[in-house]
Amino acid sequence: MPKGDGTGPIRGSGPGMGRGMGRGGRMGGSKAGAGPGGECVCPKCGTTVAHQRGIPCFEMACPNCGTGMVRK
Ligand SMILES: [Zn+2]
Repeated sequence: MPKGDGTGPIRGSGPGMGRGMGRGGRMGGSKAGAGPGGECVCPKCGTTVAHQRGIPCFEMACPNCGTGMVRK
């Protein structure tokens, strides 16, 4: 690295890109299978989302109405 200036942008975009790609791929796969990860459902509007590892359903907000999700 020639300058501290160049480290910033690279460092910032690296993890962000990896996270986004990983999340998208997992969500698509989980939705189709809906097995090991399970699903979270919104008690208000019934929207279901793929449960994410390490994140309890009640800590997730419904993408539709913002209500806390519950385990399906
Ligand atoms: Zn909802």
